[in-house]
Amino acid sequence: MSLDTFYRDSFVEVDLSAIQYNIHQLQQRLDEKTGVYAVVKADAYGHGDIQVAHAALEAGAEGLAVALLDEAIKLRHAGIDAPILVMGWTRPKDAVVAAEHEIAVTVFQEEWLKEAGLLSFSKSLKVHLKLDTGMGRIGVRSVAEMERILSYMKEENFFSLEALFTHFATADEEGLDYFATQEKRWNELFSHFKRIWPENVEVHTSNSAASMRYPGRLDHYVRFGISMYGLYPSSVVKKERPIDLQPAFSLHSQLIHVKRLEPGESISYGATYRTGNHEWIGTIPLGYADGWIRRLQGMDVLVDGKRQPIVGRICMDQFMIRLDQEYPIGTKVTLIGKQGEQEISADEVADQLETINYEIPCMISNRVPRVFLKDGKTIDIKNSL
Ligand SMILES: *Cc1c(COP(=O)(O)O)cnc(C)c1O
Repeated sequence: MSLDTFYRDSFVEVDLSAIQYNIHQLQQRLDEKTGVYAVVKADAYGHGDIQVAHAALEAGAEGLAVALLDEAIKLRHAGIDAPILVMGWTRPKDAVVAAEHEIAVTVFQEEWLKEAGLLSFSKSLKVHLKLDTGMGRIGVRSVAEMERILSYMKEENFFSLEALFTHFATADEEGLDYFATQEKRWNELFSHFKRIWPENVEVHTSNSAASMRYPGRLDHYVRFGISMYGLYPSSVVKKERPIDLQPAFSLHSQLIHVKRLEPGESISYGATYRTGNHEWIGTIPLGYADGWIRRLQGMDVLVDGKRQPIVGRICMDQFMIRLDQEYPIGTKVTLIGKQGEQEISADEVADQLETINYEIPCMISNRVPRVFLKDGKTIDIKNSL
């Protein structure tokens, strides 16, 4: 394998063994008939889609799910021949491209089928019918709509209905009422579906939260996203800890400059930080263009196994920290991940930004190379520049 290379001092480490561990943990909790689709949309939540897809399939995932047709085609071009579902909207005029690549698309509109039905297909199009049971995003909401779609699908033999699915809006929350409402709507729509469509189709309803908390659901497979990457979908699920997870994503850099400043000296744009005493200040070559956004000012990083605060404004490509002592240039700095006993988790960064952990790996831009580890060894590098 030829490893891509890079010349900067900041990188994301993606532990593919952790991803495989998390899949195995879920598999042990699920009914043995229930499979796993690895959700690798958005470049595998910022981890690297092709490498994560290979690792997930090797760990026993049955298929892959993405949000966009482009993401699915990228996986096909990488030689991946596992089933792939596009969970978002695909333009009807692109249905032929999806069919040619044997990529399943999500359908929920009669007019979509009519428009796609005018195209000429050389292969049948795999379709997953989406039911909106309360997420309010995309999907069929009524029996009448479903009947019209299904009767159209019966007439046109180039549409092949593979599965029926839905998505829960509150599977990760404390209160169960709304989840129960969605299940009730699902059951109603599903019983009508079975009456209209006697042939067998697969069913998948669960995301990470639903699959871990309610593993007895009758899914043919679950759509495993955030927790495959080792993060719990919410603080509620983290407290319940239905399965053990290992985070796959960590972010590292190095000190590239270290200096001792006199009292009263300023740091960075706007001169918002002033040294109180003599202080050791380190410079780190990572900034908001890498996704380490300005609102992370005040957050800690790890150096020598200790927390050290970011001081002054974060710049586009660099930021400064206050060090407890002098350190040599090249000393490792960890922004997300562990050093010794200390850990800065994606959850902590999310709390600082008043957002959810899902956003954290997604926001580290592809200017930061990804280094892929398996069993502690580097097996691949992705440098997007
Ligand atoms: C993103 C997504 C998932 C994965 O959700 P997680 O909470 O990350 O497990 C599942 N289903 C759909 C429809 C999605 O859009």
